[in-house]
Amino acid sequence: MIACPYCHQDYVWEVNIRDLPGSLYMCLECDTVWDAAQDIRDGKGQDFEGFMTQRALVADWKTITKIRQVSGS
Ligand SMILES: [Zn+2]
Repeated sequence: MIACPYCHQDYVWEVNIRDLPGSLYMCLECDTVWDAAQDIRDGKGQDFEGFMTQRALVADWKTITKIRQVSGS
């Protein structure tokens, strides 16, 4: 598993957000989102609200579906 590099409080989850295609990667503890698995370690995380606002979407937790915990490589 990959622990969140920001808060170290939780593992990173692969998630789907209802209004977006494909998968994203997210720490559900500190609300950090990554576009791609390889970005998780690179400090490219964005907070969930900012991420959704950028895409003209509402940051609604109810639209998040957990798929699986991201396994380390
Ligand atoms: Zn975190």
